[in-house]
Amino acid sequence: MDCLFCKIVSGQIPAKLVHQGDSVIAFDDINPQAPTHVLIIPKKHFENVGELAANDPLALKELFIAAKEIAASRALAGYRTVFNTGAEAGQSVFHAHLHLIGGRALQWPPG
Ligand code: AMP
Ligand code: ZN
Repeated sequence: MDCLFCKIVSGQIPAKLVHQGDSVIAFDDINPQAPTHVLIIPKKHFENVGELAANDPLALKELFIAAKEIAASRALAGYRTVFNTGAEAGQSVFHAHLHLIGGRALQWPPG
């Protein structure tokens, strides 16, 4: 399968890793939207968060615990966690990934 994030998991494509867990890894987003913009992904391939939740709920939980730990390690005053699902919602990589965004004041609602 030709999946960018599977290639990051396997090391075929380099990324700036910031966290590694049993079933997840986290790395810096290549096009950061805030001082902290980390992508936290399951090592196994799932197309989106719905598929991940249905098939590997433990990994889904690990993603959020990783977000909490990364935010704490950077002493973020607050942070946002986002899954985009489907192209209309802005999903461009079809391997489930949790955006962890923080380090600046964030607007609501998002665009
Ligand atoms: P989404 O648009 O929600 O699917 O998010 C995909 C994210 O992956 C975007 O924020 C991109 O900037 C990011 N991205 C794309 N290619 C890479 C890469 N090689 N390394 C790190 N992040 C990437
Ligand atoms: Zn993949």
